[in-house]
Amino acid sequence: MARLPDELICFTAIAPPTARVSVKLAEQIMPLVPRPQQIELPGNASVLTQQNRPVAIAGRFEGCAHTVLLGDLGKPEFQLAQDGQTIKQSGFGSIKILSPTRLETAVVTAETGTARTGPSTDYSRLTPLPKGTQALVTGYEGDWARLDYGAWIKRSEVQILPTGAPPKSIIRSIKARQVGDWTEIVFPLQVPVPVSIQQGDRTFTLTLYNTTAQTDIIHLDDDPLIERLDWQQNNPGQIQYTFNLKSSQQWGYKLRYEGTTLVLSLKHPPGVRGEGGGDEGKSAKQGTIADLEKAQAQNSRPQAETVSALRTATALAGIKILLDPGHGGPEDLGSRGPTGYPEKTVALVITKLVRDRLQQRGATVYLTRETDVDVPLQDRVALIDKVQPTLALSLHYNALPDDGDAIKTKGVSAFWYNTQAHSLAVFLHNYLTKTLKRSSYGVFWDNLALTRPTTAPSVLLELGFMINPDEFEWITNPKEQQRLATAIADGITRWLQKSQP
Ligand SMILES: [Zn+2]
Repeated sequence: MARLPDELICFTAIAPPTARVSVKLAEQIMPLVPRPQQIELPGNASVLTQQNRPVAIAGRFEGCAHTVLLGDLGKPEFQLAQDGQTIKQSGFGSIKILSPTRLETAVVTAETGTARTGPSTDYSRLTPLPKGTQALVTGYEGDWARLDYGAWIKRSEVQILPTGAPPKSIIRSIKARQVGDWTEIVFPLQVPVPVSIQQGDRTFTLTLYNTTAQTDIIHLDDDPLIERLDWQQNNPGQIQYTFNLKSSQQWGYKLRYEGTTLVLSLKHPPGVRGEGGGDEGKSAKQGTIADLEKAQAQNSRPQAETVSALRTATALAGIKILLDPGHGGPEDLGSRGPTGYPEKTVALVITKLVRDRLQQRGATVYLTRETDVDVPLQDRVALIDKVQPTLALSLHYNALPDDGDAIKTKGVSAFWYNTQAHSLAVFLHNYLTKTLKRSSYGVFWDNLALTRPTTAPSVLLELGFMINPDEFEWITNPKEQQRLATAIADGITRWLQKSQP
């Protein structure tokens, strides 16, 4: 590991509680102090089994060093003394103190660099860094480099270069332009600096690090999406741009560097028939979920008006929808039912039924696979980014979590990651559980490959548990599959209608 000179370097050891433990680093000896109780948090998956309780572990020692030396300090040597015996053990890696005047610069070489809160994949993801982003490296740990704005990135996703002066930029004018379905906001910079994104209810916030404003003019005409752009220099090296939006639903964004110029693209709302469209469209607004439920509760056919409103041949005209049937191929079967029947098969069946219904309403539908083939996750994600659909939906059936109960564990769940997908996830979850009278397994913010895309609201549905005998019967019943597919298509149509500005 490598650190800056002013940082503490901390060590931990596991040893018998009565032992004396110390660490020797570069001829300096530091005693480690026993910590009577250490709280070890359970893994994230414990949220699924309601066992989110800390576990106490004993015999942990800790202590920190502060050194003014620069350069390679070698490996730390741990020493344990007990009952007149002394045991020595060398640390796993060596420690280096970086010279503040000779720091290196990392340049992101991956298409998008995965920035994280710490030096391993256990740490949470931050806003990905566009290719070309540059930042000073302020530390190393194993395969990871720490960037000056605080994030960690894998060394394999960057090129390390010697640095004359830290990569910083000023920014002057900013302008916006409309390109097809997108508004592009152009930020000319001297250096491609790190960025982060935060979506709110009616705001889209972009933060530029290592940047100082000399801004006097911003060109932003009235825009289909953006009400107003506000900005402020938060601290000497950090600027925050807040796009106040005309409606609460956001439809996708992209970030890229063109040389040293940052281009932020924000997607316009889709033009769904039903909001200011033709007569057909106007009637589409009239039916409500309550109407549909009432009709179904009466065990009659849904009122003709409601059905025609939702299911007209033009209800989804101009809408592109990407459907992703989970898993596939000989290796990736997904979860299995009691008979061994695989998730990949039923996911494809239901996806095609949903596709047919969406197409009948005028939508253009893309599938990540149409047969029993293995499609890598990154290819599915790449298709979303290429197609740039109005929305993307990944369809799965659930597997039992560790410690789960095959009989009690049941229900439909929805997963989202980017704020722009939250409304769709909640709406579909509620719509399916209510209209089909299915159990709920819940709505989850979850960092999944198929929820992470930013070019469209992307939601993953788990439509029930394969291993639960009752749900399995429902999952594989052809009549119920038809009803489920109709409910998904209706849910998508209704959500699109209600989400129009
Ligand atoms: Zn699955």
